[in-house]
Amino acid sequence: MTVPVFRFAPSPNGHLHLGHAYSALLNQQMARDAGGRLLLRMEDIDRERCTPELEQTMQEDLHWIGFEWEKPVRRQSEHFAVYREALDRLIGMELVYPAFLSRGEIKHEIENLGGNGTWPRDPDGALLYPPTDRQLSNTERKRRISGGQPFSWRLNMDDALEHVGEPLFWTELEPEKRAVEAAPHVWGDVIIARKDMPTSYHLSVVIDDALQGITHVVRGKDLFQATSVHRLLQRIFDIEPPVYHHHALILDHDGEKLSKSRRDTALHSLRQEGVSAEEIRSMVGV
Ligand code: GLU
Repeated sequence: MTVPVFRFAPSPNGHLHLGHAYSALLNQQMARDAGGRLLLRMEDIDRERCTPELEQTMQEDLHWIGFEWEKPVRRQSEHFAVYREALDRLIGMELVYPAFLSRGEIKHEIENLGGNGTWPRDPDGALLYPPTDRQLSNTERKRRISGGQPFSWRLNMDDALEHVGEPLFWTELEPEKRAVEAAPHVWGDVIIARKDMPTSYHLSVVIDDALQGITHVVRGKDLFQATSVHRLLQRIFDIEPPVYHHHALILDHDGEKLSKSRRDTALHSLRQEGVSAEEIRSMVGV
């Protein structure tokens, strides 16, 4: 029987809060119950916002709450070449295209298309990318790129869905094991590689979960919808999908998701205030 592999994968662009403590400890508990392994991955592709100091504090916080991970830590910033290779595969399959519009231009273009106010948004609330750049000729693309115009790579969602040609599902473990049908189309032409890097959250997470042999992805409900994109990429790359548990989020007094910029729920502030690791564990109930 294969040994289950779990991972906790924070982005070191701020401080861990109680919600992260819950997620990390839940991964640990599930890994122990399953006799599995537990990995830590730093999702630090954003070189401006992620810093070694924040990563260091994250590791100290995790150590403090009793989270024990296998060494070495995988740092995404050390693997850009691997993501570049995956991106090149998508380029070769003609499933991605260079997208030149800035955020402001996206809005403007949508107004031009008469879609103001009615244009669909993705599950994160962003306007779906208009079809403008998808329709550019290869000559025009080359002209813009050689002229130094910045661009990201976006998935041509219609072509990707046609390429796959059948509905996709993933296994969700809780509250009972069930198959969830993926709905990648709700994301439209999602970003696969950002302007300044050969990858994005979606691409790196799919590649890394596969490379690290992750069998169980346990993460917050806020990423439930993103799993549709991950399922689609897994199928395109012929990757065996892990099973998923999207757990409930810890909310603040106003029912809002905790944020990395808040001090009062940051683990390192609580630690400085003299809260004990046991108290943290009992606050999050794991
Ligand atoms: N790095 C992501 C975050 O901090 C989590 C990614 C994942 O668990 O798939 O929100």
